[in-house]
Amino acid sequence: KSGFISIIGRPNVGKSTFLNRVIGQKIAIMSDKPQTTRNKVQGVYTKEDAQMIFIDTPGIHKPKHKLGDFMMKVAVNTLKEVDLVLFMVNAEEGYGRGDEFIIEKLKGIQTPVFLVINKIDRIHPDQLMELIDRYKDLYSFAEIIPISALEGNNVERLLGQIEENL
Ligand code: GDP
Ligand code: MG
Repeated sequence: KSGFISIIGRPNVGKSTFLNRVIGQKIAIMSDKPQTTRNKVQGVYTKEDAQMIFIDTPGIHKPKHKLGDFMMKVAVNTLKEVDLVLFMVNAEEGYGRGDEFIIEKLKGIQTPVFLVINKIDRIHPDQLMELIDRYKDLYSFAEIIPISALEGNNVERLLGQIEENL
């Protein structure tokens, strides 16, 4: 099994932290100026029977000008071509307007989308349940997986679910 996985989400939700943990190198951090590279391969995770190619897809945010609007369309088209989209949100911040914008864009694609709720080390389990209920109503995610990219909680499980969906 092999597939392309696009990671999207607002700045600071933990995308690079997750990739660094999974890939085990500092590749993701080097591309932290997201507007300079398009759809850059950030790393490849290989297991015995699976290969996951993670790509950074910057530009899924409310555009401030015409060029931004064009780049956003390019980014959304990329989401149609990958095998799986990981939409990462910050558990601590909860649901925000930036997420709302991204979810609107996801409605135009057929690719399965996992909601990855990151930074669960920062919240109470009750808060997590509320957040899951909230997001469930907004979009039909293929999976909803809470993780802590920093501490590693549930990251293995997420990788397993990704593998199953490739
Ligand atoms: P990106 O902009 O989405 O790539 O986010 P980064 O990976 O750069 O992370 C932004 C900040 O959130 C950094 O200070 C990380 O250490 C922190 N962070 C990332 N994941 C977690 C997590 O699971 N728990 C906590 N507490 N902090 C995290
Ligand atoms: Mg980053």
